[in-house]
Amino acid sequence: LVSRDFHPRHTVVRVGDVVIGEGKRPVVVAGPCAVEGEEQIVRTARAVKKYGADLLRGGAFKPRTGPHAFQGLREEGLKLLAIARRETGLPIVTEVMSPDTVGLVAEYADLLQVGARNMQNFELLKELGRIRKPVLLKRGMSATLEEFLAAAEYILAEGNGQVILCERGIRTFETATRNTLDLAVVPLIREMTHLPVMVDPSHATGKRSLVAPMAKAALVAGAHGVLVEVHPEPDKALSDGPQSLTFHGFETLMGEIRRLNEFL
Ligand code: PEP
Ligand code: MN
Repeated sequence: LVSRDFHPRHTVVRVGDVVIGEGKRPVVVAGPCAVEGEEQIVRTARAVKKYGADLLRGGAFKPRTGPHAFQGLREEGLKLLAIARRETGLPIVTEVMSPDTVGLVAEYADLLQVGARNMQNFELLKELGRIRKPVLLKRGMSATLEEFLAAAEYILAEGNGQVILCERGIRTFETATRNTLDLAVVPLIREMTHLPVMVDPSHATGKRSLVAPMAKAALVAGAHGVLVEVHPEPDKALSDGPQSLTFHGFETLMGEIRRLNEFL
């Protein structure tokens, strides 16, 4: 179902008024790793909207490596995202971690994110296949492209064709970056599938200074959008501060992306 051989027409995914896919202007998803409070998410939403973001991201259910780390504000976080959407008009993207919370998250989110750690949570994928909201599926940190596409197949097989694939870096022997961004899968996904593909340079690199160069490289490689973490005070972020852009850093990146888009 994901293969282009059987579906020569490209899929475009609609999130609110935002259209993502082949032939469309690349979109920018921006926001903090986690929703931490009303002021933090609303301030960030206003800033990223001002500089041209299309969608607001923010985790309410956080898949942290250890159980003692901040796990997210859960439903309270979803409510704060809804406030940020009301204040800015930006559609919201947030992660869903388990099949039993798909209904709850779908009440609030405009685009439901499956995190790298849940790419092969097959019961979650099946549940997402049965809803009528688009899904952003991130590549598992040790998943081959074939496994990644098989995960997307689970969602399509249940009837939901509104799926965006997202490359977010994979585990390799290299330790200088948090993950290794596998940019070649971007044109490969476009050759092999009819689904839109995005890149998350924040989790792919883990390092603020690398986010803008890799975001731009992703767009040149043909990504239909990028997803970047932005925080009002990255040093105080409860998660992923070192890879989060400041408002100023995001403004600079958006200026560069606008200039780049003239050539794409
Ligand atoms: C995130 O987007 O904050 C996240 C946890 O990403 P990933 O699942 O790619 O690690
Ligand atoms: Mn994060």
